[in-house]
Amino acid sequence: MDIQTKMIHGGISEDATTGAVNVPIYLTSTFKQDGVGKPKEYEYSRSGNPTRAALEELIADLEGGVKGFAFSSGSAGTHTVLSMFKRGDHIILGDDVYGGTFRVLDKIFRQLEIEFTLTDVTNPKAIEESIQSNTKALFLESPSNPLLKITDIEASAKIAKAHNILTIVDNTFATPYLQQPLSLGADIVLHSGTKYLGGHSDVVSGLVTTNSQELAEKIGFLQNAIGGILGPQDSWLVQRGIKTLAVRMDAHQKNAGILAEYLANQPQVAKVYYPGLADHLGYEIAKKQMNGFGGMISFDLKDESKVNQFVESLKIFTLAESLGGVESLVEVPALMTHATIPKADREKSGIKDGLIRASVGIESSQDLLNDLKQAFAAIQSEKED
Ligand SMILES: *Cc1c(COP(=O)(O)O)cnc(C)c1O
Repeated sequence: MDIQTKMIHGGISEDATTGAVNVPIYLTSTFKQDGVGKPKEYEYSRSGNPTRAALEELIADLEGGVKGFAFSSGSAGTHTVLSMFKRGDHIILGDDVYGGTFRVLDKIFRQLEIEFTLTDVTNPKAIEESIQSNTKALFLESPSNPLLKITDIEASAKIAKAHNILTIVDNTFATPYLQQPLSLGADIVLHSGTKYLGGHSDVVSGLVTTNSQELAEKIGFLQNAIGGILGPQDSWLVQRGIKTLAVRMDAHQKNAGILAEYLANQPQVAKVYYPGLADHLGYEIAKKQMNGFGGMISFDLKDESKVNQFVESLKIFTLAESLGGVESLVEVPALMTHATIPKADREKSGIKDGLIRASVGIESSQDLLNDLKQAFAAIQSEKED
């Protein structure tokens, strides 16, 4: 079955008892038992709920996993997966992973004496050099945020496997429609379902899947023990979002391609970061491991002092954090999503003060182009005053 079909018919896609074409929202915390110690399929909704189970089976189907897990946020999913590790373990982390992933390791797991090293995972040599005798996991993101750096997942997972290290991939930016890390050798895939999977900026959620039965058992135990599960209403919303993931991603990346070309030729822009541009460092790898280049673009304004005025002049692009919804959003990483990273570290990783990140929505590409054009005109005329 093609992935477009799985998005609609995969997992559990209808209600077995009534034939309802959508899985109902099972608003129940507990389930009647047939006798003492004789539960039916479900017992208690932290351990399992039919609406959540439908979503969990769906993400496993889409990513090629054996079992899926839904959490109350992407961060809750990350926390649960990282809870597999114990004192003295070491994790290699991409140097531009999501800030919240860094934060949970830095502020919480570090206190539990779990060690980590940040490294440029786009460079296989750097991965090799970061491996220690106690390294248990390689955690990476591709494309990364906000510079859309591309890591060769297959090559990285191969190095990890040779050292008995698990590869964990945050696949939020690509979604399973564009990239399936398990098929490239990864062991665990994580998602912020808040972004493209939900797709409508109306729900916060996290999804995890793995192709190892043994890891599935560990994660399942931790999901129930820690309890950061996704509720039935939100599970339903994410499943509903996924039904249109293919058509939305096609529209996102069509628009992103058009805007990236425009920005690359715009004299007020110093640099465009989009893996679909042939001069992007990760272009060849992206072409090999992805079925498209996605809907995220970042770009540097030449005049950094105009960045606030530029984003505030936009009328269709909404100034907001987050990404992956149908509506176009922009943000300034140095002042918003990545503001907690000290300026020197930020600049070292290539995040300049004039960097703007756009989550390109599915509006008319002409309207989006016109919006960018009028904002560039606004910062231009100001200059001439
Ligand atoms: C948003 C995001 C997360 C965290 O997800 P939440 O649902 O906000 O907790 C993790 N990774 C990436 C790449 C993200 O964009």
